[in-house]
Amino acid sequence: MNKVILLGLLIICVNRNISFAQTVDLTSVDEFFKVTSIIKEGQQNSGEQWTDFDNSTGYKKYVDSENEFIINTIKATINMAFANNDLSKVDSLLSTSREEMAENRKLMFQKRILKNYLDMKENFESIKSFRENYDFNNLIERSKLRLFTFLGKAVDTSFRFKALYFNCMYADGYNEEDAIYLDFNLIYKMTEEQRINFLAHEFFHNYREKFENHDFNHQCDLNYGIDMIQNEGIADMIDKTGGYKNYYTTVIQEPELGEIMVSLYKQAPEDLGKVQDMILKYSIAEISEKELVDEWIEIVKFNGHAIGFFMANQIEKAGYNYEMLETFYNPYAFFALYNKAAKKQKIFHLSDEFMAYLRSITKEFYR
Ligand SMILES: [Zn+2]
Repeated sequence: MNKVILLGLLIICVNRNISFAQTVDLTSVDEFFKVTSIIKEGQQNSGEQWTDFDNSTGYKKYVDSENEFIINTIKATINMAFANNDLSKVDSLLSTSREEMAENRKLMFQKRILKNYLDMKENFESIKSFRENYDFNNLIERSKLRLFTFLGKAVDTSFRFKALYFNCMYADGYNEEDAIYLDFNLIYKMTEEQRINFLAHEFFHNYREKFENHDFNHQCDLNYGIDMIQNEGIADMIDKTGGYKNYYTTVIQEPELGEIMVSLYKQAPEDLGKVQDMILKYSIAEISEKELVDEWIEIVKFNGHAIGFFMANQIEKAGYNYEMLETFYNPYAFFALYNKAAKKQKIFHLSDEFMAYLRSITKEFYR
């Protein structure tokens, strides 16, 4: 082959690689290091520096949000953790009990951020060096492979996964509309296997969007909530195979949050019963849609993670894993499989009346 053709091919290949490469955005991590380095030196950040921070990819969404609680808490906590001049406030927030956290989500949010930032302060140089040297693209490729292995399918190379936006907030990740948001310190602290499972969980949410029924999910809050129970429940089967207790001690390292999740998992059968009762009451107009949503929020905590994970585990134990993964985007199928599994294992199952109602609201959306 002559050299010109070879060169041409090479350019095409390089271009293809560039255009198909996943976007990893670390600008918010870099801005975080800039503002905290200045504070650590006992100096003040300029207004310009904070503007750069606000405009960075992983924080902008919170700055633009109508509710400024998140971004204000992030900034206040940066000062609290890195300036060393408000120790009583630090101590009081750190001593927040599990009960207070379970009751007050804002307090929980503040404490989780503070703990994360204090941890980052301890390992500051090492986290910075990780940012410079870690191979994010390799992580992405291995996480995609993990997702498709879990689903029992060949890698769907035609699917474009969302960009990854890193920031520094607290130990979690979110599949949002514009991107997948990940906490940088969490990824730093994890083992490579934990990172792969964690990202594969978020990729599951992202990939499921290709199949899920948007019209059903967005028709009302109830539909959205029902779908989310399946969505989070199956996703947790990817990265929480050792159970919540193990996950929240070895991966997330937040034992208090772990205790909350473990108790929610234990009470999942009762909560599922409560979900059934309130939906049935709603179906005969005994309660209004607003009352339903209010009750739902009280019972189905953390987007339904614990209830969904409990259901998925029972389905797997009963031997219906293949069926669960074949219908991973169909919430009715998930509830029906749970019921089949629950009857087989003689644990709490949903009533025929409930299943008939669920069928009636889903049947036009799912074949
Ligand atoms: Zn999730």
